[in-house]
Amino acid sequence: MRTQQTNLLVLGGGPGGYVAAIRAGQLGIPTVLVEGERVGGTCLNVGCIPSKALIHAADEFEKARHWANGSALGIRVQQPAIDIAQTVRWKDGIVGRLTGGVGSLLKKAGVQVLAGWGTIRDGKSVDVQMASGGMGSDTVRVQCEHLLLATGSVPLELSSMPFSGPSGGPVISSTEALSPDALPKRLVVVGAGYIGLELGLAYRKLGAEVAVVEATERVLPSYDEELTRPVLATLKRLGVVLHLGCSVEGLAGDGRGVRVRSVRADEFVLPADKVLVAVGRRPRTEGFGLESLLLEMSGRSVRVDEQCRTSMRNVWAIGDLAGEPMLAHRAMAQGELVAEVIAGHRRSFMPAAIPAACFTDPEVVVAGLDPAAAERAGLDVLSAAFPFAVNGRAMSLESTDGFVRVVARRDNHLIVGWQAVGRGVSELATAFGQSLEMAARLEDVAGTIHAHPTLGEAVQEAALRALGRALHV
Ligand code: FAD
Ligand code: NAD
Repeated sequence: MRTQQTNLLVLGGGPGGYVAAIRAGQLGIPTVLVEGERVGGTCLNVGCIPSKALIHAADEFEKARHWANGSALGIRVQQPAIDIAQTVRWKDGIVGRLTGGVGSLLKKAGVQVLAGWGTIRDGKSVDVQMASGGMGSDTVRVQCEHLLLATGSVPLELSSMPFSGPSGGPVISSTEALSPDALPKRLVVVGAGYIGLELGLAYRKLGAEVAVVEATERVLPSYDEELTRPVLATLKRLGVVLHLGCSVEGLAGDGRGVRVRSVRADEFVLPADKVLVAVGRRPRTEGFGLESLLLEMSGRSVRVDEQCRTSMRNVWAIGDLAGEPMLAHRAMAQGELVAEVIAGHRRSFMPAAIPAACFTDPEVVVAGLDPAAAERAGLDVLSAAFPFAVNGRAMSLESTDGFVRVVARRDNHLIVGWQAVGRGVSELATAFGQSLEMAARLEDVAGTIHAHPTLGEAVQEAALRALGRALHV
């Protein structure tokens, strides 16, 4: 067995791990990154990027089909069709360009990438079973001063309906849903959260019949109800069948359907060619010797402090492994921070807000506190919303559903939260995050000239409205 030394060993090359490694390399820290599958992790390979590509393809196809029925804009289209194999190849091309780019950035930063699975021996050494090992005996032992754990997360499985795996069976996770060989005629989605609704809507637009089974009484239950109403309207318009307050009991006897139980305890079968299970993800903590470190845990995730230190000295954890919110931008921010702390910078992870965007139709974006959360936090707040129905840009985009809402302290007008639903509003995360991070007051946003005509004008108008002086509503 070969042995080598490094200062920092990063286990896992997702957005958390690869950003940490790049920043550490830039700071002159000798760094080894160990990745068992492909750099870019869940996000670039089977998460954020491929899902947004598929959603875009589905949107474009639906637009063409909509036009085929006649268009107020005067566009004429005849019999649009989709070649899903080509769609998947196009999506894979984007993934390939991005993961190739990450490989180049790691190289430029002087990071050594070991392609293989790592097994933790102790807090200062990891055995890497090299992917190119040929006879399977090529193991490298890497000894390090600092061990950064960035192993991400895996989809939760239902015990009544385990994933079919590579057999091509009916029960799939988001990974398989992002690379379909063919479009299923009937798709049942279990879970109306981020993945269930983003991909459920995309499959519906691509032409599948889609039914969604959700345990709670609402879609996107982590968001407030007013925000999800326009999404609910789209689901209805597109004919996505919702079974709320229902749980799945397992596959039907012939494997061509799902047995579902409602709150009233009646059971029925939903026909399905594929079943996408999207009931959440859990940190990846098993199968690589993590338990031998006896780290303090917080539920299923590794407990970390505000510098992403675990309970063991010089062992760090970031990203999905360190719990909620399981979002790529949080993993990246933590990765950058850990590299800088190891380099001796004074940093701590205390963001004013971590924005979250859901790429449904229309999109939803939140940052900071909504009115109910602010109240729970004991704040006396005022809030105001500005509807896209009276925004000129929204009208010209034929997309007037939704609104922007601001939440601010009543006493000093400090903004504590933003929420929006509407076409393209994920891009407003930037404005929302900046205003919260810079401790903006309502007057700061209301007094900023926003370009016309843009959807962003609704941000300024929401602030004006909260001050009692809206101009356009
Ligand atoms: P991961 O990206 O999971 O990376 C972990 C890496 O570690 C993997 O590459 C894995 O192979 C490797 N690894 C694990 N164990 C070992 C080992 N022992 N040895 C070697 N390598 C190992 N987030 C957003 O912010 N926006 C979105 O739009 C979004 N969309 C998503 C869509 C889908 C379908 C999914 C599934 C997730 C989405 N997410 C999104 C979540 C996002 O992908 C994750 O939050 C993010 O990837 C977490 O980054 P990470 O670095 O913690 O872990
Ligand atoms: P989720 O937590 O967003 O949603 C899971 C849904 O499943 C919830 O509505 C829950 O009530 C429901 N549920 C749970 N158990 C159930 C059961 N037995 N039967 C029926 N419904 C059940 O989880 P997800 O959609 O799997 O996504 C996982 C994570 O990935 C997200 O939490 C997020 O962190 C990340 N993600 C983010 C984005 C984004 O940022 N746009 C997109 C996709 C995924």
